[in-house]
Order: sequence, then structure tokens, then C-alpha cells
Amino acid sequence: MAAPAVTIVVPVYNEEANLRPLFARLAATMDATGRPWEAIFTDDGSRDASAAILRELHAARPDVVRAIEFERNAGQHMAIMAAFEHARGDIVVTIDADLQNPPEEIPKLLAAADAGHDVVGSIRRNRQDVGWRVYASRAMNFVRERITGIRMTDQGCMLRAYRRGIVQQIVATGEQSTFIPALAQYFAANPAEIEVEHAARAAGESKYDLYKLVRLNFDLMTGFSVVPLQMFTIVGMLITALSVILVGYLMLRRLIIGPEAEGLFTLFAILYFLVGVVITGLGLVGEYVGRIYNEVRKRPRFQIRAIHEKLE
Ligand code: UDP
Ligand code: MG
Repeated sequence: MAAPAVTIVVPVYNEEANLRPLFARLAATMDATGRPWEAIFTDDGSRDASAAILRELHAARPDVVRAIEFERNAGQHMAIMAAFEHARGDIVVTIDADLQNPPEEIPKLLAAADAGHDVVGSIRRNRQDVGWRVYASRAMNFVRERITGIRMTDQGCMLRAYRRGIVQQIVATGEQSTFIPALAQYFAANPAEIEVEHAARAAGESKYDLYKLVRLNFDLMTGFSVVPLQMFTIVGMLITALSVILVGYLMLRRLIIGPEAEGLFTLFAILYFLVGVVITGLGLVGEYVGRIYNEVRKRPRFQIRAIHEKLE
């Protein structure tokens, strides 16, 4: 396997039904470009036959297929990170394994990279996901853009191309809980965005439940901004100021009108609200502290069981 011009990176978690059709379409597209290429699949601790199928694909096309096997599930972004550490191409393209990103769109990304863009992002045309996810994702995208200041039209689309230098900077961060498109956008000197097609998942189910999605978005917010902490401080100061006014008013009322026992439930309502605000603040601080804790322990981000590749 000679050093390729393009590396395709595919994170794989329980995608046994998708791998063969994905590879067939990917290989047809990439062979047609005439560029030397390789694909690095990271099996992210799948419990189905994904790893066996990847070994089989490697055996069939050792000239282009490399496979990394994780001991256990480390998450999509860590699966991509491991492949980034091994990628040799001048251009590195990430793509999902479930055929939601058509491999036939890759040449468009390559053309944009050839035109000098170091990061080529993408926007899903006619997004094919369940309704609530499309709206939740749009809302998160809006909030994220304001909080982190990172400009991406469609943060969730993983069909993207990166120049080698960007990939090296991403690898060099050594970050544990990160969001690769945002990191790339952060390092980019000349980013571009193009529109790509989107399809419904070919087989299997989404690997993200609501909890995993929330965690991923927290990674994105905390990883790229401390604005949430500052906003919280500002909200706290505003509430304190309002409380001072309320205390003054109640004091005057006590002196002028006299003691009162009414308004008990109003008091509870205000108190519950404030307790909610305080607990949220504690959780917010915890989100940062937990991630700092993970980073300082410096445990390995993922454990590689085996790598199947034939390099020259
Ligand atoms: N994935 C992974 N590890 C995980 C979750 C997902 O490698 O812990 C892979 C998955 O196999 C797929 C890609 O990441 O190739 C995107 O996942 P999915 O399609 O489930 O996400 P969705 O499209 O629903 O956002
Ligand atoms: Mg998907």
C-alpha cells in the first residue's frame, strides 16, 4: 500500500448490514477518481459481526482497506480520532457507516479541498432523520453558534474533508471529550461549506439516544466555550439585584402596612425557581469539572485491540 492521496475515515458501531454496500459504493467512487486512496475503518467495540466483516474487507482489498479494532466502545469522535492518528492522505474525509452520507458526494469535497480549502464542511440537503431530531438539532446548532462563536451551518453532518495539517493539529490536542468538526473549524484558515445529499439510515438503528445526544452537545458547548459559566454568573448577579429590590420593598411594606402571612405559595414558587436555578448552576459547573477530571487523569482515550493493514 503506497502512501495515498486521500484517506477515508469511517467510524463503525454495530453496522454489520451496512459495511459491504458502503464499501462497494465507496470503492467504486474512489477508484473512479483515479487518486490513490485508503479507507480506515474503526470498529468502535461493536457487538455484532462488524469487526469480522471489516477483516473480510481487508482480506479482499488489502491495498485500500485498513481496520482498527477497539476493545470497547469509545464513541464516534474517538473512533475518528484513532483513524486520524493513522491517516496518511493529504486529504482526509470522514463519512458515516450507515449510508446516510452518500459516498458519491466525496468527489465534491475533494474538489473543494483542491481549490485550496483546508476544511470542507457540508450541509445536508433534505435531511432524512426522524422529525424531532431535525428540529432539536437545528435549535442546538443555533445555540451552539451563539455560545461558541464557531461558524458551521450544519454541525451534525459528518461528511467532511480536512487537509493533512488540520488533522495533525486535531490529533495533537489529545482531547478526550471533543467534537471533531468544531475542532477542525477552530483550526481552519480557509474553510468552505458545500451542500451534500442525505439519505435515511440504510439498516440498523441510530446509535444516539437522547441521553447520548445531550452528552455530545454538552461536549461541544463546554469544549469550545466558557460562555455558559459567564452567563450563569451574570444571571446570578441579576437575580441578586432583583432580590435586593424585593427585600427593600418587603421591608417598607412591613413598616407601613404591618406583618402579613399571605403570599405563602408565591414564596414557594419563587423559592422553587431559585433552587432550580442553583441546581442547574451546580450541574453546569460539574459538566466542566467532570471533563477537567477526565482530562487530567490522562487515561487512554481508547484501547486498540488490533490493527489490520498491509503497509509498504
Ligand atoms: N458510531 C460510532 N460509535 C458510537 C456511535 C456511533 O462509531 O458510539 C458511528 C456509527 O456507526 C455511524 C456514525 O458513528 O457510522 C454515526 O452514528 P449514527 O448514524 O448512529 O448517528 P446519527 O446519524 O443517528 O446521528
Ligand atoms: Mg446516521
